[in-house]
Amino acid sequence: MIIAVDGPTASGKGTIAKALAKHFGLPHLDTGLLYRAVGYQCALSGGDPDDPADALAACEFPDELLANPELRSEATGGLASRASIHPAVRQALFERQRAFAHQPGGAVLDGRDIGTVIAPDADVKLFITATIQARAMRRWLEMQGRELDLELREIEADIAARDQRDIHRADAPLRAAEDALVIDTSELDRDAAVAAALDAVNAITGQQSCP
Ligand code: C5P
Repeated sequence: MIIAVDGPTASGKGTIAKALAKHFGLPHLDTGLLYRAVGYQCALSGGDPDDPADALAACEFPDELLANPELRSEATGGLASRASIHPAVRQALFERQRAFAHQPGGAVLDGRDIGTVIAPDADVKLFITATIQARAMRRWLEMQGRELDLELREIEADIAARDQRDIHRADAPLRAAEDALVIDTSELDRDAAVAAALDAVNAITGQQSCP
């Protein structure tokens, strides 16, 4: 079973994807991390993520980079969003994601274009969303103790800028697949969001919901 979980930043899609993977015993790929590695590697080698050639060269990042906690920072998220605009970058990362999705037994992938580009044949497509305010507040709470200098309004502005880039880029823009089920997590805590996603998967696949 392939489960595609798409949505904007801090919508809860990563948490939901991880929980679904655990529940169904499937491998999970956070595809945003690949774009974050490209953005980070590009900056590390003195490149400009807005430049297609620099961003493409950074797709050769070493695999160990994926474990670097710096990839999780808000700043790296911005670099990733800039690098991910380039079609050549998306193409360079395509096969890795496609192969992960189509491995025997299936997988859970979260990102922006899983249901539309990477695995349009996914058995289940979820699109997780929430208001900018709810997402900024979550990110801010997450960052306490890590990036203390970031204020809530700065995070809100970063998220808004990232949404704009992701939604309006020409190649693989952020959007719900036509056959995706949309879950709004603005008013849901972690457990309620996971429960809603689990119910959705079970309803789509016709399985019994587990207690
Ligand atoms: O999901 P995350 O916030 O880690 O993603 C970082 C950035 O990577 C996003 O803002 C988006 O521009 C890009 N991305 C993408 N396609 C994906 C996953 C992430 O373009 N499948």
